Amino acid sequence: MSLNIANRLKKLRRSLAEKEIGGIFISQAENRYYLSGFDGSAGYLLITPQNAVLATDFRYLEQAKVQAPDYQVFRITNNTVDWFPRLLAEADLGRLGFEAKDITFAFYRQLSDILDKAGSRHQLVPVDGLVESLRAIKEPDEIELITRAAEITDSALAYIEDTIHIGMTEKEVAWEIEKFLREHGSQSLPFDVIVASGTNSALPHAKPSQRQINAAEAVVIDIGARVGGYGSDLTRTICLGTPDDTFKKIYDTVLEAQLTALALIKAGISGEEADSLARAVIEKAGYGQAFGHALGHGVGLVTHEQPHLGPTSTELLVSGMVFTVEPGIYLPGWGGVRIEDLVVMENGKIRVVSKARK
Ligand code: ZN
Ligand code: ZN
Repeated sequence: MSLNIANRLKKLRRSLAEKEIGGIFISQAENRYYLSGFDGSAGYLLITPQNAVLATDFRYLEQAKVQAPDYQVFRITNNTVDWFPRLLAEADLGRLGFEAKDITFAFYRQLSDILDKAGSRHQLVPVDGLVESLRAIKEPDEIELITRAAEITDSALAYIEDTIHIGMTEKEVAWEIEKFLREHGSQSLPFDVIVASGTNSALPHAKPSQRQINAAEAVVIDIGARVGGYGSDLTRTICLGTPDDTFKKIYDTVLEAQLTALALIKAGISGEEADSLARAVIEKAGYGQAFGHALGHGVGLVTHEQPHLGPTSTELLVSGMVFTVEPGIYLPGWGGVRIEDLVVMENGKIRVVSKARK
């Protein structure tokens, strides 16, 4: 673990230097864990060219020392920010980056007021996405954890395909899946189980309801598991009984769009180009307006992280990235179909991690 942390810090310091930022104050929980190994629920990191400090309150001091041996541990209190100038005292950083998308406006004001009061020369500058872009490229150990999480979702899907029957409510199906995931090694759930049947499946992020599942309608099941902090994400659309022609047509179109994207996405193309590979198939079938979300997203410590694969994404897809490929078609009043796999970019090509049948 220690080796990885040193390497991550090295990469972060390189990007701070490129941006001419003297140091960074990390508050975002997953970034804190990624850079330190400390998984307590409260604390901050101060990373400068020379030092790495983990600031946390008395509840976590011992844990911090054990989990973050690369860090100097600094005690803080939670009701004031008097400690903030002291935390910075030994550093001469000039511009100090902070995670503007994470901290509240009120907390930012507290921090900047106390610096003013202390006559500090440090200047707070918003930086976002620095650690997130490091996190987008996974190390082998991270891919291993994601793969284990994906195996759990695959078996949960196989289990529910055997268990689900006409007349069960969406909530009952969702609970069966949740129990299975937890009993088979998922630490917690990275997001709530989605089971959406019939007309409800036209809503991409429907909440499971008391609606009973009927024959011959679409049932969208979107699930994730979590292992060692890392998540998985899988969607299948199933149909109990004999599907009608609409279902077959929509399903085949979404599947073709997905298989096309899986076959053609390669390292070096942008998130937008990846998205358009699937979108073109759906547009050609006449359902362009019915594919209202992006093709995919990175998955790791957070379920939706970099890279973003959508119509406006300029991010380049490179080896080591783990992301989803999940086209869908949603027809209000009828229902929807989405097929989602988790993939890893390896040696310039995609390897599909999900094994659940389509
Ligand atoms: Zn999903
Ligand atoms: Zn997803």
